[in-house]
Amino acid sequence: MLDEVRATSSTLTKISALGRYLASLADDDLRRACTFLRGAPFPPGDPRRLGVGWVAIGEVLRELTRAPDDEFHATYRRHGDLGDTAAALLAQYPPAPALFQAPLTLETVARGFEAIAGAQGAASRRVKAAALRSLFHDATPREGAYLVKIITSDMRVGLREGLLLPAIASASGRDAAEVRHAALLIADPGEIAVRARHGALHETAIEPGRPFRFMLASPVDAPRDAFADSVPALWVEDKYDGVRVQVHRTAQRVAILSRTLDDVTAVFPELVAPLEAAGHSFVFDGEIVAWKGTRPLPFFLLQQRLQRRDPAGLMDEIPVVLLCFDVLHLDGRDLLGAPLSARRAVLDALLPRGPVRLSTGSLARTPEELDARFHAARDAGHEGIVMKRPDSPYQPGRRGRLWTKWKPGVGTLDVVVVAAEYGHGKRAGILSDYTFAVRDGARLATIGKAYSGLTDEEIAGLSAWFHAHTRRDLGPLRLVEPVRVLEVAFDAITKSQRHDSGYALRFPRIVRIRDDKSADEIDTLDRVRALHAALVRRAAGTADGWPPP
Ligand code: AMP
Repeated sequence: MLDEVRATSSTLTKISALGRYLASLADDDLRRACTFLRGAPFPPGDPRRLGVGWVAIGEVLRELTRAPDDEFHATYRRHGDLGDTAAALLAQYPPAPALFQAPLTLETVARGFEAIAGAQGAASRRVKAAALRSLFHDATPREGAYLVKIITSDMRVGLREGLLLPAIASASGRDAAEVRHAALLIADPGEIAVRARHGALHETAIEPGRPFRFMLASPVDAPRDAFADSVPALWVEDKYDGVRVQVHRTAQRVAILSRTLDDVTAVFPELVAPLEAAGHSFVFDGEIVAWKGTRPLPFFLLQQRLQRRDPAGLMDEIPVVLLCFDVLHLDGRDLLGAPLSARRAVLDALLPRGPVRLSTGSLARTPEELDARFHAARDAGHEGIVMKRPDSPYQPGRRGRLWTKWKPGVGTLDVVVVAAEYGHGKRAGILSDYTFAVRDGARLATIGKAYSGLTDEEIAGLSAWFHAHTRRDLGPLRLVEPVRVLEVAFDAITKSQRHDSGYALRFPRIVRIRDDKSADEIDTLDRVRALHAALVRRAAGTADGWPPP
């Protein structure tokens, strides 16, 4: 079925094929199919992890197919993708028939994943390998390819929510906009599909324990722009440089979910006890920041904690705090529609403690007050400020003007890498020079090339990824899947015919890899145009002293 989806380039044909397939499934299978179609073994927010990597998959495939080592490597090099490698090997060297062979079903795959995730202790490697072996053994070659993609969470058949949600609408005969709206409140597409089928979409609200989409802020280029909609006052908070999280507390457990809706609770054990002690059932929105004494620590330290396998390992060296800035649900009360000022009052009364704190905020009535707030935030070690309308509801998944953000300098852009080139000198043989693009509607428009700013380790990681996700190998240059998002800083934006956006960044440098963002969330050509216009105004001395020194 997925091959049918992959084979057609027509979005409508893809959606109707998927819709027919989803409509044919019973509820349990419908949930499973939606989860797997997202390219993940478990629904968003599920804390379970498979804990098997490419090495383990490769071992099982070699063992099952008995493909000679050099053949395995040659096949991998030919396809550049472990999923397609699996399909090719399973086709060429079918595993020996077993006593209990049965075609794969959604249920057996789900049970296999549960067994893999549940394997613990000394025997866990063996148990995981046995479960993997049994899945691949029963899989057809194409199923094998999709298994690999799901296990490595690497589904790129164009099956992002852009296809899945309309397919759910088509399967259930509901309005696509209604399905999309519900999916902002409950991020699990399986749950949405079942609700759509049973006519229960209108009852969808955020619930403690179920991940939803974050509300986001739009960038402004000058403080007065934040007042553009003639708001009398803005609620101003420090813009923290950490990881955005939603915190769900139910009677059963505390869950901390990242912006990509991964469960990161285990990384921050010191936050769990105070959240448990807070009582109530609630949903908070906030930011986790590395913190020592009265000041934030740089983001890369926090990143070290996220990358560690033993979460408690760096707890003392790199302490963190959770800065809560919103509450969206409290003891059965849905607060999404309440104005920010009222939600903040509720949050204040909950009196978080220890490393769980309230964000620092105050009202500002003029651009000058914003300017002062901005400098105070910078002096205190923060990135900038976030400005929120006191009367605003919380709109999951929206990036509108109810929240705006202001960062220093000319600013940064979030871009996606579309091509990678080999470097020189100590970076010879490593894909270390990246051409990147902004979004222009459905198209990606290149705007610059950068090769500085990342650590050797980060570059090695990106290089390996680009090798495995090359769309076209042009010798020194590889066109790569537009998936990896970078945040780039620059000194100026100029008009230029060198890139197909019509603009170029001067002295671009990579600030960081933004794996928390998808290519759908990168900056747009419209924003580049606006930044360029603002810079021209500034050069002409008409920009009211922007940007700050
Ligand atoms: P950016 O990373 O530039 O896209 O900025 C948006 C991010 O700012 C959000 O995703 C949050 O993680 C972060 N942020 C930091 N402080 C706040 C705050 N006080 N309110 C809302 N978002 C914040």
